[in-house]
Amino acid sequence: MKKYTDFAVKQIVNLCNIPSPSGYTQKATEYLMKIFKDLGFTPLYTRKKAVLVTLGGEGDHLILAAHVDTLGAMVRSIKGNGRIRHTKIGGFPENNIENENIIVHTRDGKEYEGTAYLVHPAVHVYSDVGSMTRNDETVEIILDEKVSSKKDVEKLGIKVGDFISFDPRTKVTKSGFIKSRHLDDKASAGLLISLAKMVADKEITLSRKVSLLFTTYEEVGHGGSAGIPQDTTDMISVDMGAVGDDLTTDEYKVSICVKDSGGPYDFDLTNDLIRIAETMKLNHALDIYPRYGSDVEATLHAGYDIRHALIGPGVFASHGYERTHKSGVENTLKLLVEYINPNDAVEL
Ligand SMILES: [Zn+2]
Repeated sequence: MKKYTDFAVKQIVNLCNIPSPSGYTQKATEYLMKIFKDLGFTPLYTRKKAVLVTLGGEGDHLILAAHVDTLGAMVRSIKGNGRIRHTKIGGFPENNIENENIIVHTRDGKEYEGTAYLVHPAVHVYSDVGSMTRNDETVEIILDEKVSSKKDVEKLGIKVGDFISFDPRTKVTKSGFIKSRHLDDKASAGLLISLAKMVADKEITLSRKVSLLFTTYEEVGHGGSAGIPQDTTDMISVDMGAVGDDLTTDEYKVSICVKDSGGPYDFDLTNDLIRIAETMKLNHALDIYPRYGSDVEATLHAGYDIRHALIGPGVFASHGYERTHKSGVENTLKLLVEYINPNDAVEL
């Protein structure tokens, strides 16, 4: 299992380093298409450019869904002084991007570096550096280009609507922590790639038909709303486990969500996952996420008649500089392996 956990971590790092804010995910989906082809599968794009890959098996169709879109921003306007006002993609306070390096991606493929700064960034000049409320008027993008006017910026080819990605600052520590932006949900996407590799390597066989779905609009609410194969009976969102307050998930556990903002998850499917976690003595937690909506809930809202569940590795400081641990990734992988083949002899 260590081999596959390490492979998952490698994939997580690779994915985190591919900029993919919702709406600008083509580099991430191209990466997925290539890796699944290399593993011997036949990945497909849905019309809205999610990636669907059937791993094999027969019978009731199970979809395991992770999302590869992330938080990000867009150019809202170019200011007279050559600085940029942004608009957010996804939900986060500006505090979480202050002082972060960014890349502006123009629609014709150019990239420009810059930084998100407070409009009063220097403590030797301004008295309100600590107290100023952070929002899209007080945090601005300063490009690392010699520009001082709107015209200068326009000359670079930057326009309203260009995408902005944040430096993920991905780091894997010797002690097994994975720190990065966008572990939501690239931690899960990476471990699903590893699950596919286990199938490709014939380490596990499938007791039912299993497909992976990598959606691209989760952070804006409609990732899982389309492109679900008609024969799907069950769908599990594999997405970050929330950590904090009275929740018992941490970075080492696989979190099984029993209820979130969208209500309770399917009773029987969730029970099956809990029973496996208990039987296998996996380090796991059952939790209620108070401020969370998942992709599979988007699928249900779109009218699909399926059973739904949500599991994933615990991710600390979600939608900020996030942290999880290899053991959380491994516990999630183990739960999925056992779920897709209860009789498998794989050494866990
Ligand atoms: Zn997510």
